[in-house]
Amino acid sequence: MKKYVCIILLISMGCKGVSQEKESVIAEKAEQTETFDVDKTEEEWRRELTDMQFYVLRKAGTENAGSSELLNNKKAGTYVCAGCGTALFKSENKFDSGSGWPSFDQEIEGNVAYDVDYKIGYKRTEEHCAVCGGHLGHVFEDGPRETTGLRHCINGAALRFVPDQK
Ligand SMILES: [Zn+2]
Repeated sequence: MKKYVCIILLISMGCKGVSQEKESVIAEKAEQTETFDVDKTEEEWRRELTDMQFYVLRKAGTENAGSSELLNNKKAGTYVCAGCGTALFKSENKFDSGSGWPSFDQEIEGNVAYDVDYKIGYKRTEEHCAVCGGHLGHVFEDGPRETTGLRHCINGAALRFVPDQK
């Protein structure tokens, strides 16, 4: 009888050891991965977004240069995330970079988060919505020198323009 108890104890202790180890590995991974307040499944995003918005925001795609209606928009207002509506850029920080993508010298602080990607062979600073994680574009250091020196090169498909109320 004692023998059985010992075996059962050993087995249950063994199981516990393994599962605890697994849990700590998962916890470590979760810490490394950013979490977002707006967290939807790929299926939900696909339903809510247009094909182009989905491709840019959720697949980190890039729209064709010159294709965005917002490229030459000079109205006063706020550019919000096309995925979740978070305010990302202000019209006063928009400038014509000549790149073919809507460009800003400054983001609305705290609402844009950054990452690094090597997708096209060299290091670029990727930027995404801090609330839903939607990919926006990249930031480069060849922006207007008289202000920040930064060029936030943003896909118009990732943005929705909200004009100022008069
Ligand atoms: Zn968002």
